Amino acid sequence: MKVLVVNCGSSSLKYQVIDSESEEVLAKGLCERIGIDGRLVYQKTGADKETTEAAMPTHKQAIQMVLDAIANPNTGCIASLKEIGAVGHRVVHGGEKFADSVVLTEEVLKAVEDCNDLAPLHNPANLIGIRACKELMPDVPMVGVFDTAFHQTMPERAYIYGLPYEYYEKYKVRRYGFHGTSHSFVSKQVAKTEGRQDLKTIVCHLGNGASICAVNAGKSVDTSMGLTPLEGLIMGTRSGDIDPSIMEFIAKKENLDIAGVMNVLNKRSGVEGISGVSSDFRDLEAAAESGNERALLAIEAFSYRVAKYVGAYTAAMNGVDVIAFTAGIGENTAIVRRQVLSYLGYLGITMDEAANAKRGEDYFTISTPDSKVKVVVVATNEELAICRETVALVR
Ligand code: AMP
Repeated sequence: MKVLVVNCGSSSLKYQVIDSESEEVLAKGLCERIGIDGRLVYQKTGADKETTEAAMPTHKQAIQMVLDAIANPNTGCIASLKEIGAVGHRVVHGGEKFADSVVLTEEVLKAVEDCNDLAPLHNPANLIGIRACKELMPDVPMVGVFDTAFHQTMPERAYIYGLPYEYYEKYKVRRYGFHGTSHSFVSKQVAKTEGRQDLKTIVCHLGNGASICAVNAGKSVDTSMGLTPLEGLIMGTRSGDIDPSIMEFIAKKENLDIAGVMNVLNKRSGVEGISGVSSDFRDLEAAAESGNERALLAIEAFSYRVAKYVGAYTAAMNGVDVIAFTAGIGENTAIVRRQVLSYLGYLGITMDEAANAKRGEDYFTISTPDSKVKVVVVATNEELAICRETVALVR
């Protein structure tokens, strides 16, 4: 079956067409500036990237352009849209309602809408994409895969905040966690490759957004993001954990309202805020190498926070068998992995320097054979995970 995987944001949409049998990507691309002016990027595997500037006032028009591109008689990756057997949609927030992926019926869409409050920037955009696809492909089954679903196995003591309990009862204020599709995919790859289902694994998803997850025998038992993706690690531009009182302090000093402070915490903080250089680790590494002390401080603070969470989750699981690094930084930035592991000698971890310098493989080990904990780098693939979930449900 050919599966169209869609990740729809408020003004952009990423897509891939995947052959579920061979798990090959047939084409991928994105629509940008939907509702503004519009640009379609389409790349058939093995061919050059095509960029088309074209008006796309609505998401429906954007998706129509994607469908036209993938089934184009000359450059398309499929002969006809009839080949698309299902569409898999990334949905950011499933609240407490969705502990698994689900076929998107009208009833389910209403339940997803009820979660909009919890992710006001993301969920409405995801729903617009789903509704547009349903209109254009009324006979094709659609599946929703939630960023939060994998973490619904967390015990209450891990997801409850130290706040009045009534806020949980009335408003469902609790830890949900995100990047679930990636944490699930990577922990499954580890279990499969290591040949053990009972592993205690800590997955470090270190990308522009970053989170850590404790996975015990395939189940998420704790994770660093919370009600929203702002909690936990220091990220590209997000602060991660801070003393909540800083919000009032900064609001008074800088004459900002709540929205202004939230904007600072989401968009002007993290390694970009610390370094004043960039949110991109390639820029930070280059700056640090040429002597920029704040860029080096940003890398050190980022790595130190990761190490502290690994320690916390080792305690949460009463041990750890495997630590897995994934996503843009986890897969590519050797200096971060080295710094994180430098704090974890007490776990009996020793790193293989030569292995840590490797790149470009989907799965490799960076600990020495006698290390007490195995440390691996695993390429995440959220689109493939969404494709697999989609096929499993529509079959
Ligand atoms: P992601 O959100 O997973 O796409 O990760 C994005 C981040 O990963 C970027 O901001 C970079 O800091 C980092 N990154 C991606 N590719 C590389 C690379 N080849 N070398 C170093 N860092 C990278």
